[in-house]
Amino acid sequence: MSHPIASYVDSNNLGAWGIYLEQIDRVTPYLGSLSRWVETLKRPKRSLIVDVPIELDNGTIAHYEGYRVHHNLSRGPGKGGIRYHPDVTLSEVMALSAWMSIKTAVVNVPFGGAKGGIRVDPKKLSQSELERMTRRFTSEINMMIGPQKDIPAPDVNTNEQIMAWMMDTYCVNQGYTTSGVVTGKPISLGGSLGRRDATGRGVFVVAREAYRQIGLDLPGARVAVQGLGNVGGEAARLFCEAGAKLVAVQDHSATLYEPNGIDINALLKHVAIVHEIKGFAGEVIPNEQFWTAPCDILIPAALESQINSSNAGGIKAKLLVEGANGPTTPEADDILKDMGVVVVPDVIANAGGVTVSYFEWVQDFSSFFWTEEEINQRLDKLMIEAFQGIGEVAQRHQVTLRTATFIVGCERILKARQMRGIYP
Ligand code: NAD
Repeated sequence: MSHPIASYVDSNNLGAWGIYLEQIDRVTPYLGSLSRWVETLKRPKRSLIVDVPIELDNGTIAHYEGYRVHHNLSRGPGKGGIRYHPDVTLSEVMALSAWMSIKTAVVNVPFGGAKGGIRVDPKKLSQSELERMTRRFTSEINMMIGPQKDIPAPDVNTNEQIMAWMMDTYCVNQGYTTSGVVTGKPISLGGSLGRRDATGRGVFVVAREAYRQIGLDLPGARVAVQGLGNVGGEAARLFCEAGAKLVAVQDHSATLYEPNGIDINALLKHVAIVHEIKGFAGEVIPNEQFWTAPCDILIPAALESQINSSNAGGIKAKLLVEGANGPTTPEADDILKDMGVVVVPDVIANAGGVTVSYFEWVQDFSSFFWTEEEINQRLDKLMIEAFQGIGEVAQRHQVTLRTATFIVGCERILKARQMRGIYP
């Protein structure tokens, strides 16, 4: 199997881009005549690396490396978040942008895939340093973004405030206010009700459907969640509201295990104050034991490649729903398949965020805003229909939900690609 951009891939450590290429190779045999175009998916359309210099509060100059990648724009403008993390690399951003292409196609919203990031530990910056870095980065990627071109959104370590600075910087440079350049904005700047919780809500809705399909109901189900941030926190809250028990939770600071169920509201209050789960009452277990904790539903909602060949075999869950992007390596996927664990892949499970981002963009364009109830209803309907469609494809081809989701996403992108043809 040859990977055309092999220079980005280390065979001992596939990394996120290597994992993505492997996923495309696995789905190619199901694409029929569209496989002629599959190479399109293995190459980002364009990638930009920028230097982001800022003056620190102590008067010294710091330089950070930033990225924005347009993976595929066949179906519409680029869409994807901005990540601030010390481990961000170009190849990681390429993979995340590619997963956005698949994701927007799977939920059938008229966007392509994009992603961006800065290689930085934002916790080490003051608020004013963070603002200067965000504004400089926005200026540096200015030629790639715009409401009709590419619309950034929050991702790991970025939030509404950062989106507000990005929007302001873009608009000041344009000379007029256009709120549709970013999504995940504050409500006061044209953000959408329900956006903040949308990804976690989508994870929950899809997990509930998948659990039903294996003949089980949520009340009493034992749930384990890795990552109690924007995605994991809201998903965990909704599971508990539906009568499930949160039995294990892990973040960057600690792992908690409580077979009788953790009080999610108290835990979320604790995290809102100290920004980590460490210090919350309950049994603390070694981090690696999180993966073997007895549970029915496992939700990885932190970072990539968390479930790999070294820990997949110990997983007890019947259902794994990927809140994070790329949390399961292809080897782990094979192990889980052999064990009979149902895996709902990221490209559908966490698509709630981009779906409500689409609603936000539509509301900004029409300058007419919907109620939270309308948004949640539309989100639930769209996610359930998309998930049911994937289930039918999985049945028809007798493949896993991941392969079925990739079949749906790749077909939509490549049909658009084929209809548009190659210019000149
Ligand atoms: P976040 O920054 O709000 O939360 C991340 C969580 O992961 C935190 O609880 C953090 O403590 C935990 N974490 C970090 N490193 C960890 C480690 N080594 N071990 C265990 N836990 C660790 O981020 P988020 O927005 O919730 O995003 C989480 C994942 O979901 C990412 O993969 C992101 O790409 C994906 N995602 C997010 C959205 C969104 O709308 N926010 C949409 C789609 C996908």
